[in-house]
Amino acid sequence: MKKFIIIAFVVLAGIVLYQDFLYKKKRNTPIPPRPYVVMLSLDGFRWDYDTKTHTPNLDYITNNGVKADGLQPSFPTKTFPNHYTIATGLYPGNHGLISNSFFAPDLDEYYSIRDRSKVENGKFYKGEPIWVTAEAQRVKAASYFWVGSEAKIKGYAPTYFKYYDHNFPYDQRIDTVVNWLKLPYNDRPHLITWYIDHADGVGHLHGPDSPEIVQSVGMLDSLIGVFLSKLNQLSIKDSVNFIIVSDHGMANIQNDKMVYLNKYLNNNFIDTAIGVNPFTLVYAKNKFIDSVYNSLKNAEGITTWKKEDIPERLHLKHNKRLSNIVVVADSGWSTAFNKGGFIYNGGTHGYDNQNRDMYGIFYGIGPSFKKGYKTGTLYNIDIYNLLAKMLKIDPATNDGKPDRIMQVLAEE
Ligand code: AMP
Ligand code: ZN
Ligand code: ZN
Repeated sequence: MKKFIIIAFVVLAGIVLYQDFLYKKKRNTPIPPRPYVVMLSLDGFRWDYDTKTHTPNLDYITNNGVKADGLQPSFPTKTFPNHYTIATGLYPGNHGLISNSFFAPDLDEYYSIRDRSKVENGKFYKGEPIWVTAEAQRVKAASYFWVGSEAKIKGYAPTYFKYYDHNFPYDQRIDTVVNWLKLPYNDRPHLITWYIDHADGVGHLHGPDSPEIVQSVGMLDSLIGVFLSKLNQLSIKDSVNFIIVSDHGMANIQNDKMVYLNKYLNNNFIDTAIGVNPFTLVYAKNKFIDSVYNSLKNAEGITTWKKEDIPERLHLKHNKRLSNIVVVADSGWSTAFNKGGFIYNGGTHGYDNQNRDMYGIFYGIGPSFKKGYKTGTLYNIDIYNLLAKMLKIDPATNDGKPDRIMQVLAEE
Protein backbone atom coordinates (compact mmCIF):
# COMPACT_ATOMS: atom_id res chain seq x y z
CA MET A 1 0.00 0.00 0.00
CA LYS A 2 2.81 2.37 1.03
CA LYS A 3 4.59 1.56 -2.24
CA PHE A 4 1.42 2.35 -4.18
CA ILE A 5 1.07 5.75 -2.47
CA ILE A 6 4.68 6.65 -3.33
CA ILE A 7 4.21 5.68 -7.00
CA ALA A 8 0.98 7.67 -7.20
CA PHE A 9 2.71 10.68 -5.66
CA VAL A 10 5.61 10.49 -8.14
CA VAL A 11 3.20 10.22 -11.11
CA LEU A 12 1.15 13.17 -9.85
CA ALA A 13 4.25 15.33 -9.32
CA GLY A 14 5.37 14.42 -12.82
CA ILE A 15 2.07 15.57 -14.31
CA VAL A 16 2.18 18.86 -12.40
CA LEU A 17 5.76 19.56 -13.50
CA TYR A 18 4.97 18.69 -17.14
CA GLN A 19 1.94 21.00 -17.19
CA ASP A 20 4.04 23.78 -15.70
CA PHE A 21 6.63 23.17 -18.45
CA LEU A 22 3.93 23.33 -21.15
CA TYR A 23 2.49 26.53 -19.69
CA LYS A 24 5.89 28.24 -19.58
CA LYS A 25 6.63 27.03 -23.10
CA LYS A 26 3.34 28.46 -24.34
CA ARG A 27 3.93 31.75 -22.50
CA ASN A 28 7.39 32.13 -24.02
CA THR A 29 6.32 31.33 -27.59
CA PRO A 30 5.64 34.63 -29.31
CA ILE A 31 2.12 34.74 -30.81
CA PRO A 32 2.60 35.11 -34.59
CA PRO A 33 0.94 38.29 -35.85
CA ARG A 34 -2.35 37.99 -37.71
CA PRO A 35 -1.79 37.96 -41.48
CA TYR A 36 -4.04 39.74 -43.96
CA VAL A 37 -6.33 37.71 -46.19
CA VAL A 38 -7.64 39.05 -49.49
CA MET A 39 -10.04 36.75 -51.36
CA LEU A 40 -11.16 37.49 -54.91
CA SER A 41 -14.01 35.69 -56.64
CA LEU A 42 -13.95 35.45 -60.42
CA ASP A 43 -17.56 34.59 -61.17
CA GLY A 44 -17.92 31.54 -63.41
CA PHE A 45 -14.19 30.97 -63.92
CA ARG A 46 -14.08 27.27 -64.76
CA TRP A 47 -11.35 25.04 -63.30
CA ASP A 48 -9.58 24.64 -66.67
CA TYR A 49 -9.77 28.22 -67.99
CA ASP A 50 -6.09 28.79 -67.29
CA THR A 51 -5.29 26.32 -70.08
CA LYS A 52 -7.16 28.38 -72.66
CA THR A 53 -4.53 31.06 -73.10
CA HIS A 54 -1.30 32.49 -71.75
CA THR A 55 -1.90 33.23 -68.03
CA PRO A 56 1.46 34.36 -66.64
CA ASN A 57 0.00 35.73 -63.42
CA LEU A 58 -2.03 32.66 -62.52
CA ASP A 59 1.07 30.63 -63.42
CA TYR A 60 3.11 32.79 -61.06
CA ILE A 61 0.68 32.02 -58.24
CA THR A 62 0.73 28.32 -59.12
CA ASN A 63 4.52 28.22 -59.01
CA ASN A 64 4.89 30.27 -55.84
CA GLY A 65 1.75 29.35 -53.97
CA VAL A 66 -1.05 26.81 -54.13
CA LYS A 67 -3.32 25.67 -56.92
CA ALA A 68 -6.15 23.14 -56.66
CA ASP A 69 -7.11 20.91 -59.51
CA GLY A 70 -10.63 22.23 -59.11
CA LEU A 71 -13.05 23.62 -56.54
CA GLN A 72 -16.24 21.61 -56.24
CA PRO A 73 -19.19 23.96 -55.83
CA SER A 74 -22.33 23.17 -53.85
CA PHE A 75 -25.75 22.47 -55.36
CA PRO A 76 -27.41 24.31 -57.03
CA THR A 77 -24.32 25.56 -58.84
CA LYS A 78 -25.60 29.14 -59.03
CA THR A 79 -23.91 32.39 -58.05
CA PHE A 80 -25.66 33.46 -54.86
CA PRO A 81 -25.88 30.04 -53.17
CA ASN A 82 -22.18 29.40 -53.81
CA HIS A 83 -20.74 32.77 -52.85
CA TYR A 84 -22.62 32.51 -49.60
CA THR A 85 -21.46 28.92 -49.12
CA ILE A 86 -17.85 30.02 -49.52
CA ALA A 87 -18.47 32.77 -46.97
CA THR A 88 -20.22 30.55 -44.38
CA GLY A 89 -18.93 27.02 -44.88
CA LEU A 90 -22.57 25.90 -45.05
CA TYR A 91 -24.41 24.07 -47.79
CA PRO A 92 -27.12 26.19 -49.48
CA GLY A 93 -29.65 23.91 -47.79
CA ASN A 94 -28.25 25.08 -44.46
CA HIS A 95 -27.64 28.79 -45.12
CA GLY A 96 -30.95 29.49 -46.81
CA LEU A 97 -29.92 30.95 -50.19
CA ILE A 98 -31.21 27.86 -51.95
CA SER A 99 -31.10 29.52 -55.38
CA ASN A 100 -30.64 33.00 -56.86
CA SER A 101 -34.38 33.56 -56.46
CA PHE A 102 -36.86 31.65 -54.29
CA PHE A 103 -39.88 31.91 -52.04
CA ALA A 104 -39.15 31.94 -48.30
CA PRO A 105 -42.20 30.58 -46.42
CA ASP A 106 -40.42 31.30 -43.11
CA LEU A 107 -40.68 35.03 -43.97
CA ASP A 108 -43.64 34.82 -46.33
CA GLU A 109 -41.55 36.72 -48.90
CA TYR A 110 -39.76 36.23 -52.16
CA TYR A 111 -36.01 36.69 -52.50
CA SER A 112 -34.43 37.69 -55.79
CA ILE A 113 -30.92 38.78 -56.72
CA ARG A 114 -32.49 41.51 -58.85
CA ASP A 115 -34.36 43.04 -55.89
CA ARG A 116 -32.04 45.30 -53.89
CA SER A 117 -34.41 45.43 -50.90
CA LYS A 118 -34.04 41.65 -50.55
CA VAL A 119 -30.33 41.39 -51.32
CA GLU A 120 -29.61 43.98 -48.62
CA ASN A 121 -31.94 42.43 -46.04
CA GLY A 122 -30.13 40.34 -43.46
CA LYS A 123 -33.18 38.27 -42.51
CA PHE A 124 -32.75 36.07 -45.60
CA TYR A 125 -29.17 35.11 -44.74
CA LYS A 126 -28.72 32.29 -42.22
CA GLY A 127 -25.43 31.06 -40.82
CA GLU A 128 -22.40 33.21 -40.15
CA PRO A 129 -20.29 34.61 -42.99
CA ILE A 130 -16.58 34.90 -42.31
CA TRP A 131 -16.69 38.71 -42.09
CA VAL A 132 -19.28 38.44 -39.31
CA THR A 133 -17.12 35.89 -37.47
CA ALA A 134 -14.20 38.29 -37.86
CA GLU A 135 -16.00 41.49 -36.85
CA ALA A 136 -17.57 39.76 -33.83
CA GLN A 137 -14.02 38.90 -32.71
CA ARG A 138 -12.84 42.47 -33.29
CA VAL A 139 -11.07 41.71 -36.55
CA LYS A 140 -11.99 44.26 -39.21
CA ALA A 141 -13.32 43.13 -42.58
CA ALA A 142 -14.02 44.81 -45.92
CA SER A 143 -15.92 43.68 -48.99
CA TYR A 144 -16.25 44.85 -52.53
CA PHE A 145 -19.46 43.13 -53.70
CA TRP A 146 -19.33 39.71 -52.04
CA VAL A 147 -22.83 38.19 -51.87
CA GLY A 148 -24.29 38.94 -48.45
CA SER A 149 -21.84 41.69 -47.55
CA GLU A 150 -24.41 44.42 -48.16
CA ALA A 151 -26.74 43.04 -45.47
CA LYS A 152 -26.48 43.20 -41.70
CA ILE A 153 -26.22 39.60 -40.54
CA LYS A 154 -26.40 38.78 -36.81
CA GLY A 155 -26.01 42.54 -36.31
CA TYR A 156 -22.76 42.83 -38.29
CA ALA A 157 -21.72 43.99 -41.75
CA PRO A 158 -18.09 44.36 -42.81
CA THR A 159 -16.56 47.62 -41.50
CA TYR A 160 -16.17 48.68 -45.15
CA PHE A 161 -18.45 47.52 -47.95
CA LYS A 162 -19.92 48.71 -51.26
CA TYR A 163 -23.42 48.44 -52.69
CA TYR A 164 -23.42 46.33 -55.84
CA ASP A 165 -22.80 48.23 -59.06
CA HIS A 166 -22.43 45.80 -61.93
CA ASN A 167 -20.66 48.28 -64.18
CA PHE A 168 -18.16 49.63 -61.67
CA PRO A 169 -14.71 49.53 -63.37
CA TYR A 170 -12.48 46.66 -62.33
CA ASP A 171 -9.32 48.78 -62.03
CA GLN A 172 -11.08 51.01 -59.53
CA ARG A 173 -12.12 47.98 -57.49
CA ILE A 174 -8.43 47.02 -57.38
CA ASP A 175 -7.45 50.51 -56.23
CA THR A 176 -9.99 50.49 -53.43
CA VAL A 177 -8.84 47.07 -52.21
CA VAL A 178 -5.22 48.25 -52.26
CA ASN A 179 -6.17 51.48 -50.48
CA TRP A 180 -7.89 49.47 -47.74
CA LEU A 181 -4.55 47.75 -47.18
CA LYS A 182 -2.84 51.15 -46.94
CA LEU A 183 -5.06 52.34 -44.09
CA PRO A 184 -3.44 53.02 -40.71
CA TYR A 185 -3.06 49.81 -38.70
CA ASN A 186 -6.09 50.35 -36.46
CA ASP A 187 -8.40 51.01 -39.41
CA ARG A 188 -6.96 48.42 -41.78
CA PRO A 189 -9.15 45.37 -42.51
CA HIS A 190 -7.55 41.96 -42.02
CA LEU A 191 -10.06 40.29 -44.29
CA ILE A 192 -11.04 41.62 -47.72
CA THR A 193 -13.45 39.82 -50.06
CA TRP A 194 -14.06 41.14 -53.57
CA TYR A 195 -15.66 40.15 -56.84
CA ILE A 196 -15.32 40.36 -60.61
CA ASP A 197 -18.23 39.12 -62.74
CA HIS A 198 -16.64 39.16 -66.22
CA ALA A 199 -16.06 35.47 -67.05
CA ASP A 200 -19.61 34.57 -66.00
CA GLY A 201 -21.29 37.05 -68.32
CA VAL A 202 -19.06 36.14 -71.26
CA GLY A 203 -19.50 32.41 -70.59
CA HIS A 204 -23.29 32.76 -70.65
CA LEU A 205 -23.29 34.80 -73.83
CA HIS A 206 -20.66 33.04 -75.89
CA GLY A 207 -19.99 29.73 -74.15
CA PRO A 208 -16.92 28.35 -72.36
CA ASP A 209 -15.22 27.33 -75.60
CA SER A 210 -15.59 30.66 -77.37
CA PRO A 211 -12.80 33.04 -78.42
CA GLU A 212 -14.51 35.62 -76.19
CA ILE A 213 -13.77 33.45 -73.13
CA VAL A 214 -10.14 33.22 -74.18
CA GLN A 215 -10.05 37.03 -74.23
CA SER A 216 -11.84 37.29 -70.90
CA VAL A 217 -9.36 34.90 -69.27
CA GLY A 218 -6.42 36.89 -70.64
CA MET A 219 -7.93 40.15 -69.42
CA LEU A 220 -8.64 38.73 -65.94
CA ASP A 221 -5.12 37.36 -65.73
CA SER A 222 -3.68 40.79 -66.46
CA LEU A 223 -5.94 42.37 -63.84
CA ILE A 224 -4.51 39.86 -61.38
CA GLY A 225 -1.05 40.96 -62.52
CA VAL A 226 -1.93 44.59 -61.82
CA PHE A 227 -3.22 43.66 -58.39
CA LEU A 228 -0.13 41.57 -57.56
CA SER A 229 2.22 44.36 -58.55
CA LYS A 230 0.28 46.87 -56.44
CA LEU A 231 0.36 44.45 -53.50
CA ASN A 232 4.07 44.14 -53.98
CA GLN A 233 4.55 47.85 -53.37
CA LEU A 234 2.86 47.75 -49.96
CA SER A 235 4.86 47.94 -46.77
CA ILE A 236 2.84 44.98 -45.43
CA LYS A 237 3.33 42.90 -48.59
CA ASP A 238 4.97 40.03 -46.73
CA SER A 239 1.96 39.52 -44.51
CA VAL A 240 -0.75 39.55 -47.20
CA ASN A 241 -2.31 36.30 -48.41
CA PHE A 242 -4.19 36.41 -51.69
CA ILE A 243 -6.79 33.79 -52.59
CA ILE A 244 -8.64 33.50 -55.90
CA VAL A 245 -11.76 31.35 -56.07
CA SER A 246 -14.78 31.01 -58.29
CA ASP A 247 -18.34 30.15 -57.42
CA HIS A 248 -18.86 27.58 -60.22
CA GLY A 249 -17.79 26.76 -63.77
CA MET A 250 -19.68 26.89 -67.04
CA ALA A 251 -21.08 24.31 -69.50
CA ASN A 252 -21.76 24.62 -73.19
CA ILE A 253 -25.42 24.63 -74.19
CA GLN A 254 -26.90 23.75 -77.56
CA ASN A 255 -30.02 24.81 -79.43
CA ASP A 256 -31.13 21.24 -80.01
CA LYS A 257 -31.18 20.30 -76.33
CA MET A 258 -33.92 22.49 -74.93
CA VAL A 259 -36.87 21.69 -72.73
CA TYR A 260 -39.83 24.08 -72.54
CA LEU A 261 -41.23 23.54 -69.07
CA ASN A 262 -44.61 25.14 -69.81
CA LYS A 263 -45.35 22.15 -72.01
CA TYR A 264 -45.50 20.10 -68.80
CA LEU A 265 -46.69 22.67 -66.26
CA ASN A 266 -50.39 23.34 -65.76
CA ASN A 267 -50.81 26.80 -64.26
CA ASN A 268 -53.84 25.70 -62.28
CA PHE A 269 -51.75 23.11 -60.49
CA ILE A 270 -48.91 25.34 -59.29
CA ASP A 271 -48.57 28.46 -57.15
CA THR A 272 -45.46 29.56 -58.98
CA ALA A 273 -42.29 28.30 -60.66
CA ILE A 274 -39.00 30.16 -60.34
CA GLY A 275 -35.90 29.31 -62.24
CA VAL A 276 -33.08 30.22 -64.51
CA ASN A 277 -31.70 27.64 -66.90
CA PRO A 278 -30.97 24.89 -65.83
CA PHE A 279 -32.42 24.92 -62.27
CA THR A 280 -36.11 25.47 -61.51
CA LEU A 281 -38.12 25.49 -58.31
CA VAL A 282 -41.70 24.39 -58.93
CA TYR A 283 -44.07 25.28 -56.09
CA ALA A 284 -46.96 22.90 -56.82
CA LYS A 285 -50.29 23.25 -55.01
CA ASN A 286 -50.32 20.56 -52.33
CA LYS A 287 -53.08 18.43 -53.79
CA PHE A 288 -51.47 18.49 -57.25
CA ILE A 289 -47.90 17.55 -56.33
CA ASP A 290 -48.28 14.07 -57.84
CA SER A 291 -49.88 15.32 -61.05
CA VAL A 292 -47.19 17.96 -61.59
CA TYR A 293 -44.46 15.47 -60.81
CA ASN A 294 -45.92 12.79 -63.09
CA SER A 295 -46.19 15.19 -65.97
CA LEU A 296 -42.54 16.29 -65.65
CA LYS A 297 -40.83 13.09 -64.65
CA ASN A 298 -40.42 11.43 -68.04
CA ALA A 299 -39.48 14.49 -70.06
CA GLU A 300 -36.22 13.99 -71.93
CA GLY A 301 -33.32 16.21 -70.84
CA ILE A 302 -34.44 17.01 -67.30
CA THR A 303 -34.40 15.34 -63.91
CA THR A 304 -37.40 16.01 -61.70
CA TRP A 305 -37.51 15.31 -57.99
CA LYS A 306 -40.14 15.58 -55.37
CA LYS A 307 -38.45 17.48 -52.56
CA GLU A 308 -38.12 14.42 -50.33
CA ASP A 309 -36.46 12.41 -53.11
CA ILE A 310 -33.61 14.83 -53.77
CA PRO A 311 -30.40 12.88 -53.14
CA GLU A 312 -28.99 13.39 -49.67
CA ARG A 313 -25.54 14.17 -51.14
CA LEU A 314 -26.92 17.50 -52.43
CA HIS A 315 -27.71 18.64 -48.87
CA LEU A 316 -30.66 20.67 -50.06
CA LYS A 317 -33.95 18.96 -49.36
CA HIS A 318 -34.28 19.81 -45.67
CA ASN A 319 -34.66 23.53 -46.28
CA LYS A 320 -38.14 25.00 -45.81
CA ARG A 321 -37.56 27.34 -48.73
CA LEU A 322 -37.20 24.55 -51.21
CA SER A 323 -40.21 24.02 -53.45
CA ASN A 324 -42.02 20.69 -53.30
CA ILE A 325 -40.77 19.88 -56.82
CA VAL A 326 -37.34 20.64 -58.24
CA VAL A 327 -36.26 20.38 -61.87
CA VAL A 328 -32.67 20.40 -63.07
CA ALA A 329 -31.62 19.94 -66.67
CA ASP A 330 -29.29 17.08 -67.48
CA SER A 331 -25.74 17.89 -68.50
CA GLY A 332 -25.70 19.94 -71.70
CA TRP A 333 -29.49 20.43 -71.71
CA SER A 334 -31.33 23.70 -71.14
CA THR A 335 -34.67 24.67 -69.68
CA ALA A 336 -36.93 27.67 -70.17
CA PHE A 337 -40.62 28.14 -69.50
CA ASN A 338 -41.38 28.82 -73.14
CA LYS A 339 -39.87 29.62 -76.51
CA GLY A 340 -38.15 32.97 -76.35
CA GLY A 341 -37.61 32.47 -72.63
CA PHE A 342 -33.90 31.82 -72.98
CA ILE A 343 -31.65 34.47 -71.53
CA TYR A 344 -28.44 32.62 -72.32
CA ASN A 345 -27.21 31.27 -75.63
CA GLY A 346 -23.66 30.11 -75.07
CA GLY A 347 -23.33 28.49 -71.69
CA THR A 348 -24.84 28.08 -68.28
CA HIS A 349 -24.38 26.62 -64.80
CA GLY A 350 -26.66 25.33 -62.08
CA TYR A 351 -26.25 21.64 -62.95
CA ASP A 352 -25.36 18.83 -60.56
CA ASN A 353 -22.27 19.79 -58.57
CA GLN A 354 -20.55 16.53 -59.55
CA ASN A 355 -20.52 17.70 -63.17
CA ARG A 356 -16.88 18.55 -63.83
CA ASP A 357 -17.87 21.57 -65.96
CA MET A 358 -19.33 23.08 -62.79
CA TYR A 359 -16.00 23.03 -60.94
CA GLY A 360 -14.37 26.35 -60.17
CA ILE A 361 -10.89 27.41 -59.09
CA PHE A 362 -8.82 27.82 -55.95
CA TYR A 363 -5.44 29.59 -55.93
CA GLY A 364 -3.59 30.94 -52.90
CA ILE A 365 -0.34 32.79 -52.41
CA GLY A 366 1.27 34.48 -49.42
CA PRO A 367 3.00 33.73 -46.14
CA SER A 368 0.37 31.27 -44.89
CA PHE A 369 0.47 29.10 -48.01
CA LYS A 370 2.79 26.36 -49.18
CA LYS A 371 4.92 27.35 -52.15
CA GLY A 372 4.57 25.58 -55.49
CA TYR A 373 2.00 23.15 -54.09
CA LYS A 374 -0.64 21.49 -56.23
CA THR A 375 -3.58 19.78 -54.62
CA GLY A 376 -6.51 17.75 -55.95
CA THR A 377 -10.13 18.82 -55.74
CA LEU A 378 -11.04 21.16 -52.91
CA TYR A 379 -14.64 21.72 -51.73
CA ASN A 380 -16.09 25.17 -51.40
CA ILE A 381 -17.73 24.39 -48.04
CA ASP A 382 -14.23 23.98 -46.58
CA ILE A 383 -12.97 27.50 -47.35
CA TYR A 384 -14.66 29.14 -44.33
CA ASN A 385 -12.61 27.00 -41.93
CA LEU A 386 -9.44 27.81 -43.87
CA LEU A 387 -10.08 31.55 -43.66
CA ALA A 388 -10.83 31.34 -39.94
CA LYS A 389 -7.59 29.45 -39.37
CA MET A 390 -5.55 31.94 -41.39
CA LEU A 391 -7.13 34.87 -39.56
CA LYS A 392 -6.67 33.18 -36.18
CA ILE A 393 -10.34 33.49 -35.28
CA ASP A 394 -12.75 30.88 -33.94
CA PRO A 395 -15.03 29.53 -36.65
CA ALA A 396 -18.77 29.14 -36.12
CA THR A 397 -20.28 25.70 -36.55
CA ASN A 398 -20.27 24.83 -40.25
CA ASP A 399 -20.40 21.96 -42.76
CA GLY A 400 -16.72 22.05 -43.74
CA LYS A 401 -14.18 19.33 -43.01
CA PRO A 402 -10.86 20.97 -42.01
CA ASP A 403 -8.88 17.82 -42.87
CA ARG A 404 -9.68 18.22 -46.55
CA ILE A 405 -8.16 21.68 -46.94
CA MET A 406 -5.57 22.55 -44.30
CA GLN A 407 -2.84 20.81 -46.32
CA VAL A 408 -2.55 23.98 -48.42
CA LEU A 409 -1.14 25.89 -45.46
CA ALA A 410 2.56 26.10 -44.68
CA GLU A 411 3.64 24.80 -41.27
CA GLU A 412 3.76 27.64 -38.74
P1 AMP B 1 -26.00 33.91 -62.27
O1 AMP B 1 -24.99 33.79 -63.31
O2 AMP B 1 -27.39 33.99 -62.83
O3 AMP B 1 -25.93 32.86 -61.19
O4 AMP B 1 -25.78 35.33 -61.55
C1 AMP B 1 -24.65 36.09 -61.77
C2 AMP B 1 -24.96 37.54 -61.60
O5 AMP B 1 -25.09 37.86 -60.22
C3 AMP B 1 -23.83 38.43 -62.06
O6 AMP B 1 -23.94 38.76 -63.41
C4 AMP B 1 -23.96 39.65 -61.22
O7 AMP B 1 -24.57 40.68 -61.93
C5 AMP B 1 -24.91 39.26 -60.11
N1 AMP B 1 -24.37 39.61 -58.79
C6 AMP B 1 -23.25 39.20 -58.22
N2 AMP B 1 -23.07 39.73 -56.99
C7 AMP B 1 -24.15 40.51 -56.79
C8 AMP B 1 -24.59 41.33 -55.71
N3 AMP B 1 -23.86 41.44 -54.58
N4 AMP B 1 -25.77 41.96 -55.84
C9 AMP B 1 -26.52 41.82 -56.96
N5 AMP B 1 -26.15 41.08 -58.01
C10 AMP B 1 -24.98 40.42 -57.93
ZN1 ZN C 1 -21.66 32.89 -60.68
ZN1 ZN D 1 -23.82 32.87 -64.28
